[in-house]
Amino acid sequence: MAQAQLSIDLAAIRANWRALANLTTGEAGAVVKANAYGLGVERVAPALAEEGARRFFVAVAEEGVAVRRALGPGPEICVFSGHMQGDAEIIRDHKLVPMVNSIDQMLRHVEALPGHPFGIQLDSGMNRLGMEPAEWSALRDIALAQSPVLVMSHLACADTPDHGMNAFQLRSFREMTDGIEAPRSLSATGGILLGPDYHFEVTRPGVGLYGGMPFSEAQPVVELMLPVIQTRDVAPGEAVGYGNAFVARVPTRVATVAAGYADGIHRALAPKGYLWAGRTRCKILGRVSMDLITVDVTALSELPEHLELLGRNQTVDMVADAIGTIGYEVLTALGARYSRSYLGA
Ligand SMILES: *Cc1c(COP(=O)(O)O)cnc(C)c1O
Repeated sequence: MAQAQLSIDLAAIRANWRALANLTTGEAGAVVKANAYGLGVERVAPALAEEGARRFFVAVAEEGVAVRRALGPGPEICVFSGHMQGDAEIIRDHKLVPMVNSIDQMLRHVEALPGHPFGIQLDSGMNRLGMEPAEWSALRDIALAQSPVLVMSHLACADTPDHGMNAFQLRSFREMTDGIEAPRSLSATGGILLGPDYHFEVTRPGVGLYGGMPFSEAQPVVELMLPVIQTRDVAPGEAVGYGNAFVARVPTRVATVAAGYADGIHRALAPKGYLWAGRTRCKILGRVSMDLITVDVTALSELPEHLELLGRNQTVDMVADAIGTIGYEVLTALGARYSRSYLGA
């Protein structure tokens, strides 16, 4: 079988949520946007609910529909993009909670769905989503009179603990919210690790649940094994792959494995990246093709049926470093062509 095998460890996701929840002074929610960071929200969200998560976060209302289907009634599902034009029906029908980002969204919400739960998102300095201090002070009394279920903001630099922006945003969030009754939330994974000052009543871990940095204690969650289709011996002077991008200088044994950039494996992984055969590192040779990768297996005395791209030897963050991005992007790029299986269900 030439289909690459992606296994996702639900027990590890649950353990990571538990660990971050234990670090949180208040309640830990769970961010399951982007199909649970590419890992399959229909399996991940129920596993987290079983572990005790009661508040889930998604980016857009349509994602909330999938989470509601997976979870059934009960858990709260908050939508970061708030109440957008055209969303009223699905917000109502699937009992979603929009995080209202502006006075316009607030008006839209109370007009379309009076009495329907909502939260407030404030901008404490990131300048991306949420109400700025001036807008908030205009709306504050009216909004608070309608009992928002959560008042939140988001940190721009939480993965850099020493960054002055963290304390700046904490102060700004406090100035906007001290004394209110609604539960407050400021921290994602990085903010949880900054310590209790940043926790307030609710935290919003995402990437740490899925085994990514900055949660260095995370248990690894994904394993991606690529089947070897063929091997060949390449003589000095012979080239491998598109553009003759690799030319052998010594006799080289080359394995061709079944996965490529159509599976979300970035072309930039060649020529600096590696696959693993057990504990042995095998360099990628030539270019990453749409469906194939060629690898130097000269050093192996025995060739396994699969080579590891992600797993015990190579984390998502190691792959991310090799291509100049972050673990989040490696996870959310994981392709649709893999055979996916779930462990620890
Ligand atoms: C994505 C996101 C999170 C989760 O962030 P992680 O760094 O993955 O933990 C939390 N809050 C907001 C507003 C987000 O957009």
